[in-house]
Amino acid sequence: MKLSELKPGRSARIEQVGGEGALRQHFLDMGVIPGTDVTLVKLAPMGDPMELRVRGYELTLRVADAEKIQVSPASPDAEKPGKAPEKRFTDHPGLGEEGKFHPKGSGDPLPEGSLLTFALVGNQNSGKTTLFNQLTGSNQHVGNFPGVTVDRKDGSICGHKDTLVTDLPGIYSMSPYSSEEMVSRNFVLDSKPSAIINIVDATNIERNLYLTMQLLEMNTPMVVALNMMDELRGNGGMVDINAMEAMLGVPVVPISAVKNEGVDELVRHAIHVAKYREKPLRQDFCFPEDHGGAVHRALHAVSHLIEDHAEEAGLPVRFSASKLIEGDNDILLRLNLDANEKEMLEHIVLQMEKERELDHSAAMADMRFDYIERVSEACVTHPRESREHLRSQKIDRLLTGKYTALPLFIGIMGLVFFLTFFLIGPFLQDLFASGIKALGDLVRKAMAAGSVNETIKSLVLDGIFEGVGSVLSFLPLIVTLFFFLSMLEDSGYIARVAFVMDKLLRCIGLSGRSIVPMLIGFGCTVPAVMSTRTLPSDRDRRMTILLTPFMSCTAKLPIYSFFVSAFFPRYSWMIITVLYLLGILTGVLVALVYRKTLFKGEAVPFVMELPNYRLPSPRNVLQLLWEKARDFLHRAFSVILIATIVVWFLQGFDFRFNLVEDSRDSILAGIAGFVAPAFRPVGLGDWRIVTSLVSGFMAKESVVSIMEMLFTNGVQAIGSLTAACLLVFSLLYTPCVAAIASIRREMGRRWAFYVILLQCSIAWVGALIVRLIGMLLGAA
Ligand code: GDP
Ligand code: MG
Repeated sequence: MKLSELKPGRSARIEQVGGEGALRQHFLDMGVIPGTDVTLVKLAPMGDPMELRVRGYELTLRVADAEKIQVSPASPDAEKPGKAPEKRFTDHPGLGEEGKFHPKGSGDPLPEGSLLTFALVGNQNSGKTTLFNQLTGSNQHVGNFPGVTVDRKDGSICGHKDTLVTDLPGIYSMSPYSSEEMVSRNFVLDSKPSAIINIVDATNIERNLYLTMQLLEMNTPMVVALNMMDELRGNGGMVDINAMEAMLGVPVVPISAVKNEGVDELVRHAIHVAKYREKPLRQDFCFPEDHGGAVHRALHAVSHLIEDHAEEAGLPVRFSASKLIEGDNDILLRLNLDANEKEMLEHIVLQMEKERELDHSAAMADMRFDYIERVSEACVTHPRESREHLRSQKIDRLLTGKYTALPLFIGIMGLVFFLTFFLIGPFLQDLFASGIKALGDLVRKAMAAGSVNETIKSLVLDGIFEGVGSVLSFLPLIVTLFFFLSMLEDSGYIARVAFVMDKLLRCIGLSGRSIVPMLIGFGCTVPAVMSTRTLPSDRDRRMTILLTPFMSCTAKLPIYSFFVSAFFPRYSWMIITVLYLLGILTGVLVALVYRKTLFKGEAVPFVMELPNYRLPSPRNVLQLLWEKARDFLHRAFSVILIATIVVWFLQGFDFRFNLVEDSRDSILAGIAGFVAPAFRPVGLGDWRIVTSLVSGFMAKESVVSIMEMLFTNGVQAIGSLTAACLLVFSLLYTPCVAAIASIRREMGRRWAFYVILLQCSIAWVGALIVRLIGMLLGAA
């Protein structure tokens, strides 16, 4: 039968995994391979996707994808928790330990003073960020990987100046299917770090070791950091570290990143293997007696076949051989095999498939999991059903329950926005703003005392303090919003939201994960765009970025309330709600168009781990807040400062660079008058409106302040129809410079221009429609 026909709560054994390409490799890499037991935990509230339990962890899968997996029902107990711990004794192999049982004698040390570089590699939620923060403290810098927009964090280890740790994106495998996997693998292949620190979640060893198997093949010095040992021990689990070291051939250090236990030892080992260039003692995990030895023979044959090519290309031989058998095109290109060799490769793989009766990808995944099972059998005493997991199941009964999931989601998001935008945010914002104001007053007094030139004074006070100050006052809002979002994310809730909402988002061609940036977009487009980096596919990421501007950001709220209370005070809340909904609706329409044009194809398969709920570590949260704040400050004092100065100049001077009395004579008014005809058809041709809209490009809030400044007799003069057009236009037109700058950072200059043009055109059409309807109604 098909996996999709399984009833909730029932288990089955996987017989065959269909599908092809990326999707299939993804299944296999997550441990969904023939012979594995799966349990269907539940279906999402809307009936799709499903939550499965495989190899001791929870995984999401769409029903359509589950149809491609054949299972046989009724396999008894899928897991055997709570085996009685038995005593075992293994000699400590002393891998990576100075001198003592050292198998390679004195080693081959790097010259004194060379920079030791470390790559931090591991599954998502294995504790990488926590460990990275422990290792580097505050000596870290954030940037992008060259050519891609995945975040890159580097830092030196505390107390070891000549070290550099790079936090790589969380991955499950070294297949080249998602941009994260590509980044991590290319980092190890091309930047050649001195050593890899592989972080393994001890509560989920089998799945985590799958990546370890592939890392060992990279033939780079490596240490395994066995994390979450506190949780494992707390639930009665145990790992025979010595036996594991012996079986993996690299040092294994048990740690608890949150509690900072074992981290010093990890650092010592890591530095040692890096310094003495101690490669893994073992890369060969296939055996001649396994399933007739088909995989073993194929791997060794391919290794011999490509040995010299791999050396020439600077690639690890064993890794290349595995990847070639898995059908990896990137490696095939790099190796530069000739036609004969390619043909031989094909033959070897075909022969293996025939003998093993599995296709190449499944055979390789199976070989790795076979070895992992041996390791796990020999070294791991599995804990009883863990407290954390039981707790997660209870929480999930509510948060992903059939009838409770959606109401709770709306409730939680409502609460977050309420707290951020009405309670904590404004309070901090007022504090911050009064601080800036006090500073401004101080500067004003100082300049008055020093009788500074009037123009300079105006630049500093009206330009810099007004402009940058008004933007800076948003810092507390952003930090507060990020605080809540990172709490939701770190605790594991966001993964559930994606699970619950996947079906809805699929209708517009996206996957559940895109919900996060969209939600943040209601706060501010800048962090929303930044948060798309967690999305697994480039297509989804780009499409999501282009849709976030339709989620009306908070900076537009002052515009709405100002005009609504001036023109339609009786319907204020209704109109504001309609505006928000109009934004979402337009976004959905645009998404549907994108789906047929720019972004054809399907959203990536929704195969995602649902980690146990955990309390986020305060240190991680603080670190994140500090990073966001720093990022924001950096922007405020670069792009925004310059832009503010330019606008101040344009509205203060005329074309002959004389100071103007009336801003109607300013350069800004001149330019606005030039652009005004374009706005005339939609009823917004007044130069003052144009000016305020243009300045709204700098920061949406300034639309209101500039309107107030320029309409000396009150805005009532523009009339209610124009006000309605203005509202719709403000809702839809280009996001502010800060947002555009972040879009540019993620997608490049051309897309940034595209967003400006597209949003303005849509806004223009929207306003025109409102005006026509208004005129019809007025005429009728
Ligand atoms: P990443 O996705 O690999 O960066 O993982 P994080 O560092 O964000 O950690 C995921 C979750 O695991 C967070 O809630 C951490 O607080 C938690 N965590 C990390 N290390 C440990 C540990 O050693 N023990 C326990 N109990 N929890 C941990
Ligand atoms: Mg992380």
